[in-house]
Amino acid sequence: MTPNVLESIAHTRAAVSAARQAGSRIALVPTMGALHAGHARLIERARQDGQYVVVSIFVNPLQFDRPDDLERYPRTMESDLQMCASLGVDAVFAPVVGEMYPHTPTCTVHVGAVANYLCGQYRPGHFDGVATVVMKLFQIVTPDRAYFGEKDAQQLAVVRHLVRDFNLPVDIVGVKTVRESDGLALSSRNARLDQEERRLAPALYAGLLEAARLIARGETRANVVKTAAAARIRAARPLRLEYLEVVDAQNMQPVERITGRVIVAGALWVGSTRLIDNVRCDKVVLP
Ligand code: AMP
Repeated sequence: MTPNVLESIAHTRAAVSAARQAGSRIALVPTMGALHAGHARLIERARQDGQYVVVSIFVNPLQFDRPDDLERYPRTMESDLQMCASLGVDAVFAPVVGEMYPHTPTCTVHVGAVANYLCGQYRPGHFDGVATVVMKLFQIVTPDRAYFGEKDAQQLAVVRHLVRDFNLPVDIVGVKTVRESDGLALSSRNARLDQEERRLAPALYAGLLEAARLIARGETRANVVKTAAAARIRAARPLRLEYLEVVDAQNMQPVERITGRVIVAGALWVGSTRLIDNVRCDKVVLP
């Protein structure tokens, strides 16, 4: 089945409204395109839940802190649409920038403390941009459910806070990270890695696993965990560890003592490509 490709907000509203009138619940999978198996997992989950599935494809300029990153971001609309067709997506909302931002917005969403650390610390304005576009997408598509990857754990936390703080009538579903066989989390930015960089890139996940192992063994000192994980990553050229942090899984604030559910998150530069990943440590198993 070929999805309905919608470039205008008005047509998207009309399609969603018709689907809802026909008795469907509406699912939204927001993406920036260059779709891969990670995105496919989100779409499959949305499909399994038996809804009218809308995938948005929009490279949101508001969330890019570096112009070169926005410029170099991969755009593969044709194969994206093929993937959407093969996964039974009902509608693809693929607006141009002028449709989403006909003028510079005077009202945007400002994200508070949940964005203070991790990527929020190193990418000024990034999560304000994410929250603003997610708010707009929710107003346009009016989904009952929206699907986000755990790969972007801080983004998922930001979206959960957005929904809670603005009483948005949408259920947020988090989906487990899809990885390559060597552990590297799938990402549209992986396409930029050359052969040698690709070989080194799984170091980030290896470090995070080391952290998870220590925590599972009962280590509660975040500093000890971070040092061991960073050593495992061995941040040497062309690798540069931007951050590696242990945070509370709900509010994304760094912890010194690990007493509950935490996320260990890192950002690694591999050459000129920035990769992020994280693991959630649900249980502290004391020795
Ligand atoms: P993006 O196109 O990178 O903005 O990602 C769109 C959605 O797909 C976000 O909710 C991401 O968290 C999710 N996503 C990206 N990569 C993965 C992955 N490897 N596993 C699961 N979800 C992912």
